Amino acid sequence: MEQNTKTTQFDEKYMRLALAEAQLAKQRDEVPIGCVIVKDNCVIARAHNLKETVQMASAHAEVLAIDMASKQLGSWRLTGCDLYVTIEPCAMCAGLIYQARIRRLIYGSADPKGGACGTAMNVLENSYINHKVEVKRVRLNGPAGSSPALSAMSK
Ligand SMILES: [Zn+2]
Repeated sequence: MEQNTKTTQFDEKYMRLALAEAQLAKQRDEVPIGCVIVKDNCVIARAHNLKETVQMASAHAEVLAIDMASKQLGSWRLTGCDLYVTIEPCAMCAGLIYQARIRRLIYGSADPKGGACGTAMNVLENSYINHKVEVKRVRLNGPAGSSPALSAMSK
């Protein structure tokens, strides 16, 4: 797959916004995971994990952000949209990312327990599925990147 090398500065910018969302989750005593969805260089959705707050197993940041982006665009097809999330998506979210036709997935920390984008399993790189999502890992340096996300993983 063709790699777009011009996107690095944007990837860092949007990953910082995802980290800011993760911080909001942390303030609610949620596992700190944040997500933003970007289309044509505009943030169209941002969300954080709300599983405990709403007592729903599916209230992961990616699910909430994809729902918001679909409402924003009036379509379940998030063609041309890039999803930034602070932690490698689980199997449910990876499946949804594929179903929603997300163009690129950019994640921060790998999740050794349940990461479904190459770490514990690989939902997206699968010859049986008909939509290919470009997957990229972006690690940030400095305080924003030293991570509420990483500390959550050790719980
Ligand atoms: Zn998930």
